[in-house]
Amino acid sequence: MLSKEKKQILIIGAGPSGMTAALSAAREGCACFVVEHNDAAGKKLALTGNGRCNYTNTDISTVHYHQGSGEDGFIKKLLEAFSYEDCISFFEGIGIEPEIKRYRFDDHGYVYPEGENAAAFRDRLYGACLEEGVVFKFGLGGEDIGLEYKDISDGQPDQPGHSGRSGRRFTSRLGDFDACIIATGSNAYPMTGSDNSIYPVLMHFGIKFNRFYPALCALFSKDEHLRELKGRRIETGVVLKIDGEPVMEERGEIQFNEHSISGIPVMQLSGYAAIMLSQGRKCSLMIDGREYPVHRTAGFDRSQCCSGGVDLDWICPETMESRSVKGLYFCGDILDVYGDCGGFNLHMSFASGYTAGKSAAE
Ligand SMILES: Cc1cc2nc3c(=O)[nH]c(=O)nc-3n(C[C@H](O)[C@H](O)[C@H](O)COP(=O)(O)OP(=O)(O)OC[C@H]3O[C@@H](n4cnc5c(N)ncnc54)[C@H](O)[C@@H]3O)c2cc1C
Repeated sequence: MLSKEKKQILIIGAGPSGMTAALSAAREGCACFVVEHNDAAGKKLALTGNGRCNYTNTDISTVHYHQGSGEDGFIKKLLEAFSYEDCISFFEGIGIEPEIKRYRFDDHGYVYPEGENAAAFRDRLYGACLEEGVVFKFGLGGEDIGLEYKDISDGQPDQPGHSGRSGRRFTSRLGDFDACIIATGSNAYPMTGSDNSIYPVLMHFGIKFNRFYPALCALFSKDEHLRELKGRRIETGVVLKIDGEPVMEERGEIQFNEHSISGIPVMQLSGYAAIMLSQGRKCSLMIDGREYPVHRTAGFDRSQCCSGGVDLDWICPETMESRSVKGLYFCGDILDVYGDCGGFNLHMSFASGYTAGKSAAE
């Protein structure tokens, strides 16, 4: 049972952003209740970094993020509130030591947990939440709890230690809550649970949402030459051309497959390519003097992230609170921003989760 004396916070989604939000709010003395429709927490987190969990990067800065909407400086504010150093000490605080790896073509360091085990990282974050008294309810969708937003003012002033009897509150079949944090992820890798099933709740609350497109994935080409190159890996530069014009360039190791081209540099270009393809624009990749026409991305099932999501114009970067629904917060991949490969997306999930949890607790 949740304590009646404490501020009650509902978190929907037990991924890295939801668990970080719950942990931060619980540390501020709130009673936190997490609803997760999977049977366990952090399924996607346990797959990250090829099972090794690249959880942040020594070069956490705005240049690595792609913001689809919102005020200039939105990402900067979030990263200032939860920097690279903050991330390292937050996880050291729950017993996770960093291990920095450097790769060719990158002058910054990719940060993994010592032991490089993503499932163990997930277990530690989940364990830290339990230690702070966070309550998890698995096998239940946030869209199935009858969430409503009500003015429950009884005319009585707030009591010390109990803020919930005046003003607006969230009601649901699970009880009443002072704040709600939505941390349900994007549409990437929907088999891990991030399947956009929360959409009816967003519609119900009138939240502005920009359509998802796959990002950080392989790009498909029908070029016959790929069959011969299948299985080859080379370190080189890749240029993305749109309607015949070069627009972006990346360097690193690329991999040729029978019908697609993958590897980190191609993944970095794929988010922009996905949007251009959806508009009917011609996309191609120039690799070592040869042009490979691209007709599709690997799609949501095989993308690590998405562009699109909850419109940042309607989110306050200092708190992650909705500007239209007081007490409603968002964090993680559901926001209209994504980062490059290299630990930037997990860092953003932790940064926004930390800010949402702390702010909801205030
Ligand atoms: C294969 C793969 C590898 C990756 N590797 C890295 C990496 O090494 N480094 C990095 O920085 N990023 C990596 N990423 C990206 C990273 O995993 C995401 O940015 C991060 O998981 C986003 O966290 P989140 O909490 O916002 O969403 P998620 O991790 O998607 O968690 C959302 C949670 O909400 C739950 N949920 C969804 N809808 C509902 C609902 N309606 N009701 C209740 N619960 C719901 C889901 O089941 C899920 O548990 C990788 C992604 C993939 C797919």
